[in-house]
Amino acid sequence: MRTSVRYNTDMYHGDGETTAGAGDIAALESAVTLFRVRPRAARPAARLRGRMLRLRHLIDVLELEFARDAASLAGCDELEWQGHISPIQWVKHECRTTTTAAIDACEVGAQASHLPESFHALADGAIGFGHLALLARTAEAITSSETSSGFEEAPLLAKARQHSVGKFRHDCEHARHAADQRRFLTEQIDQVEARTLELKPAAGGALFLRGFLDSEGGATLRTALESLARRAGQEDLRRRDRRLADALVELAGHALDSGALPQSTGQRPHLQVTATLDALRGLDGSPAGELEWGGPIAAETVRRLGCDATVARVLFDTESAILDVGRARRVPAPATRRALRARDGGCVWPGCDRPASWTQAHHLRHWAQGGATDLDNLVTICRGHHWKVHEGGWRLIRTDEGMVVLPPVPLELRQPATPAVGGPPPVLLDAPRNRAPDAPPSPPPGVQPPVASTPAQARDPDGPSTL
Ligand SMILES: [Zn+2]
Ligand SMILES: [Zn+2]
Repeated sequence: MRTSVRYNTDMYHGDGETTAGAGDIAALESAVTLFRVRPRAARPAARLRGRMLRLRHLIDVLELEFARDAASLAGCDELEWQGHISPIQWVKHECRTTTTAAIDACEVGAQASHLPESFHALADGAIGFGHLALLARTAEAITSSETSSGFEEAPLLAKARQHSVGKFRHDCEHARHAADQRRFLTEQIDQVEARTLELKPAAGGALFLRGFLDSEGGATLRTALESLARRAGQEDLRRRDRRLADALVELAGHALDSGALPQSTGQRPHLQVTATLDALRGLDGSPAGELEWGGPIAAETVRRLGCDATVARVLFDTESAILDVGRARRVPAPATRRALRARDGGCVWPGCDRPASWTQAHHLRHWAQGGATDLDNLVTICRGHHWKVHEGGWRLIRTDEGMVVLPPVPLELRQPATPAVGGPPPVLLDAPRNRAPDAPPSPPPGVQPPVASTPAQARDPDGPSTL
């Protein structure tokens, strides 16, 4: 049962404490009460800052007193912890604070004998309680290790006087390494062993991520993501967490695009999309596309993925006739792609700085609607902006002055595509591209094996791009 201990005077006179023990806290409570009921007046910022500094110092001093009491409680018989497994747990639950704050309080109190000068420094206002908590944790780590060379308070306290709490955290890590390299290395190894990433499927083919990375792993990921997560111009209003998520998808997509990932069971990893021709043409009434590992996806997403995707395999329709959607090559031939990248020099979206190697080919008029896969109808565009011109509804127009973007057409006003000849047989797309002349991946269960309509297609390193 939770034992509720309220911070009020009744507790000190009705909970078995001696009058001598209650007097000091009662006096403090009276002072705080008087302070709280004072007349409040607007103050200039300079005075506010001065008051806040003094208030913070008082809070820090009280934190130190709290820590001393926490250490005293830790020294009591565990019956005094009232059913909690440790004094930290008692502090956390009964004093209604966080685990970190409870550990800091207990640790600071416990390390009093190792930190006499630091306690004075806090009382003098030379350091804050955040510094003292780090000093205490460092002292505990070093003094509790059999392999350490011993804890020295003075040099670390000197750093605490100079540095912010954030920077002092690094000072403490350096001190721990200097005093105890073996334990430091052991902890870093433990962090690597504790790496984890949970990918939990959610409704609609979405994915929840939860994980933990060690310091180097985290720094590697952050370094890669930060460069991709910068705002793409002033009109980029995405929140930082959204930009980081976009960056993670872009990073993975680029790794797939580059073909640099190791093969799995003889195949290059790539997305697999299945769709009917009606979906590719954006016709009303057509079923959604199907993304392996992702489930049903919107037709417009199929069209984007198909904009620069090698069609590696052809499925048969219900009459087992080979699908024929006409002449369009979906993917630029290597020479066309080189010319395209040389001409556009990167993403064509105004203001975007993604280099050519981070772009995809986009058909200004989609190939499923008769657009040619040639230089006149193609532009290079980064993944984020490719999404904008498809799902986002932005219009990308080539003019004599260069590329121009127009704001999105509202979804309800977007027109379905012009009906085209042909039935609704399924088409299997590989996305991103499988540009290397590797053996085509084997089909998923229940799918007909690859069919090359002509010997020329069979030799085409881009796969059969004309069906
Ligand atoms: Zn496109
Ligand atoms: Zn771009």
